[in-house]
Amino acid sequence: MPERAVRPAAPDVSPPDVAPPAFDPRTDDWRRQHARAATSLDDVEALFPGRFDLAALDRPGIEAAIALYGMRATPYYLDLAERAAEDDPVWALAVPSPRETVRLPEERDDPIGDEVDGLHPHPALTRRYRDRVLLYPTPVCSVHCRHCFRKRVVGNADYAVDDAALAAAVDWIAGEPELHEVILTGGDPLTLGDDKLLALLERLDALPHVWSLRLHTRMPVVNPFRVTEALAARLGALRTPTLVVTHANHAVEVTGVFARAVRRLRGAGVDVLNQSVLLAGINDEPDGHRALLWALLRAGARPYALHHADLVPGTGHLRTHVERGYALMRALRGTVPGHALPRYLLDVPGGHGKVPLDYPWVQPGVLGGLRVEAPDGTVHLYGGPAARFERG
Ligand code: SF4
Repeated sequence: MPERAVRPAAPDVSPPDVAPPAFDPRTDDWRRQHARAATSLDDVEALFPGRFDLAALDRPGIEAAIALYGMRATPYYLDLAERAAEDDPVWALAVPSPRETVRLPEERDDPIGDEVDGLHPHPALTRRYRDRVLLYPTPVCSVHCRHCFRKRVVGNADYAVDDAALAAAVDWIAGEPELHEVILTGGDPLTLGDDKLLALLERLDALPHVWSLRLHTRMPVVNPFRVTEALAARLGALRTPTLVVTHANHAVEVTGVFARAVRRLRGAGVDVLNQSVLLAGINDEPDGHRALLWALLRAGARPYALHHADLVPGTGHLRTHVERGYALMRALRGTVPGHALPRYLLDVPGGHGKVPLDYPWVQPGVLGGLRVEAPDGTVHLYGGPAARFERG
């Protein structure tokens, strides 16, 4: 009997019984960070298997908030969270709270009046002041911050701006010689690729009446790999002085990678400032806020503005009273360098612009003089006909 040929075994094509390698949250490719952003608790678990205690969360409540407002958080940013809990600043700003489903009567979809009649000459523009204009080149952000004042815009395709609309917006700016500063803002302009972003900036740069370009971006905080040497060099090569305003709210966000992004920008001649939002339980007590200001100074991003939280739907749990902001500013003055103190600002609802909410250090005193409270807590009468200057 002839021997039967021995056929080689068929290759085993069944999937290996091991999980695919996890995404490295420190991957330094900003596009991959953006693409792999978590949009659900399942994504968080897939990115960080077993790291966060998700069982303890009110999952239906969080999912209801996601259904209302969406969620997006880069692996890099989520990796900065220590705990899956609302008292963790990164978690609280990246992952919806069930409390977001509560909308208070005073809250508004457009809290600072970006779209009120008379201020909105084009879908991608808001002109609130004679000399400045906001330009919204994209509704895309790498993280959907829970406190965002443009929640209605972020991630919303209705606000997408195509090339023709962007060109029309620039044409409009070209016809307004009293406009001297153009502010690219959110969405996040740094989610655009280099070529698209620079094509836009170069058109603005060529306008003789544009004397300042500003980019408001949270990318150095939530996806700092976006600030490549190449991008920094191209921004620094613009004729018009260019300013990047970052948005860090807590010292834990000011990492070594953030500092490297700031160094790259400054090294290319681009100045870097920071704006924060006053947020309950996140940066509204002096020690934590002082740590943020010092971290920013050490990283080379000058603190510039502290915004009172706007009347954004579903953010009542993140807002403080103005009194809390006063107390914070009172405690900070004299305990950090003056150049590290941000301006505490209120954006007047309805599109009326910003006003400083300065702590009332100086008030009318007797006989036309002034009652002055000093940082060391002493109270003085200053000036007036009596010209008195007394220790309180
Ligand atoms: S990055 Fe800015 S515009 Fe985008 S969600 Fe955060 S706060 Fe809003």
